[in-house]
Order: sequence, then C-alpha cells, then structure tokens
Amino acid sequence: MMTPLSEQILTDWQVRKTKKQKTAFIEWMQSQIPGLQVEQGGFGNNRNLVLGDVKSAKVLLTAHYDTCARLPFPNFLPPKNIPLYIGYSLLICIPFGIFAFLLNFVLGFLTESFFISYWGTFLPTMALLFYLLMGGKPNPHTANDNTSGVITLCELIASMTEEERAQAAFVFFDNEENGLLGSAFFRKLHKKDGLEKKPLINFDCVSDGDHMLFVLSKPAMKAYGEAFAAAFPSTAEKTVYLEKSSNTMYPSDQANFPMGVGVAALRKKKLIGLYMDRIHTVKDTVFQEENIVFFVEGTQRLLQSIL
Ligand SMILES: [Zn+2]
Repeated sequence: MMTPLSEQILTDWQVRKTKKQKTAFIEWMQSQIPGLQVEQGGFGNNRNLVLGDVKSAKVLLTAHYDTCARLPFPNFLPPKNIPLYIGYSLLICIPFGIFAFLLNFVLGFLTESFFISYWGTFLPTMALLFYLLMGGKPNPHTANDNTSGVITLCELIASMTEEERAQAAFVFFDNEENGLLGSAFFRKLHKKDGLEKKPLINFDCVSDGDHMLFVLSKPAMKAYGEAFAAAFPSTAEKTVYLEKSSNTMYPSDQANFPMGVGVAALRKKKLIGLYMDRIHTVKDTVFQEENIVFFVEGTQRLLQSIL
C-alpha cells in the first residue's frame, strides 16, 4: 500500500517539464512535505528540492523530478551491452544526418555559397535537435521516468522515524533530462559539505522490470558493495545486479558524485541482456508497485547496516 501522497503523484502529477508545471508541483510538494526546501541556481536555473541537512547527513537519497519531452523514438538503453548502446545512439543520428545532408545539398544548389549552405545547415539541425530534446511536447506519461523514483523517495521519507530521517538528506533533482544540470548545481553548492564521503543513492526508472540494477562507483563499491549485497538479496521475482560504473552505462544524476550509486529496474532478453525501452514515449505507463516496496525495504535494511 502506498501513501496517499504517492498515489496522488501517480494520478495527478506525472507531467513536470515546463517551468509552470514544475512551479505547481513544487508548491504542492511543499504543502505536503513540511521542511522541503528549494535550492535554486546554476546553469539552467535549477530548482532542486531538499529535505534535511546535507552537511550533517550521512547518506543522500535522490531522484530527479523533472520529466522529458515526448520523443518519436524510445530512449532504448542496454547498460551492459556497450556495442548495442553505441549502435543505437548512432542509429538515432541517421535521420538528423539525412536532414542535414539534404538541406546542405539544396542550399548549396540554390545559393552556390559555402557560407550560407554551411550555416544554413548547421543552425537548423542544431535547432531541431534542441527542440526535440528540450522544447518538445511534455510526455503525458512518466510512470517509470521518473515518477517511480520520486515516489520511492516519498515512500522512504514516510517510512522512516524522525531519528532515521535526521541521518539522511533527500534530494529531488531538477533538469536531469537536460543534461544532469540540477545535480551538477547541487554538487557545486554543497562542495564543502563532504559529498565525497557520503553515499548518494539515486533512483531513476525503477518501476518497469524485474531485474534490479545497482551501479556503484569505484569508491562506493569498495565501501558499501557488501552492504548492498546483503540489503538487496535477489528474490523469486526480482533478480539483483551489483555492477561497477566503469563497465556499466547508466547515465543519471549519480554520475556527478564520487560516492554515487545508480538504481534502476530493467527487463532482460537473451541476446540483448538488460534493457529499458519505453521511457520518453507515451508507453511509459508501467508502474510495478512491488518494485517500490522492494527498493524501500532494501534501502531501510541498508541504512540500518551502514548508519
Ligand atoms: Zn530519468
């Protein structure tokens, strides 16, 4: 059973992309979670939402709350299959390449000017990319990316006692989808708060799949690898993977922190391996509630063992 707050986020607050949508969400969250602060600034004028004292916290629990544009192609992500990962990224570039080639050809033909055909191709191609990624229509469905992470944090906050909460700080990052901007600003703002020693556990896309992936930085693996293994055992339904960030591609906010741990749920197929394939499209509707329970209970065991 999720808290009414989590239920309401899932039913009413899935679209958090424009400034206005974010402002409404922030004001509502502040009315629901006493003490939730806004830390604003940095490139992108981010608004991160922070609960607790970052400096005195022993652990940081995080998730980005901003959501993505609805894209014409899924953000297909196979974290352990690097050749496929690169191949898919190149595949997405092909339409842009064709667009640029044709535009360049037509402009060159019409104007016979290198200057015009060069810049007349470069600028519109960049504008098109920028529009698709940042200016596009907000995706109406964000159950997995990253309403699931936001709800995991809310459930953790609700499940902890006041003493437990005092040991942790909770951060809802802004502008992950625009290039991890909110977490970069957070790191800068708190650079004197000992972030290099605090484990930072970031939940991003945790509700679609039965394969539970933990991506640990080298220092995090050394200090907490065993604690994670003990706190998150595989079950009959859920298989756990503890992986090193050096050979696993999972681009999310934890990458900005030395003690970062990325958490995600994935699906698995024989030849592909672990993958995620519905985020950033209208099919991002899968919300496996048992995944939230899995991560909340495991995180509680982890915190009891490391704090
Ligand atoms: Zn995400």
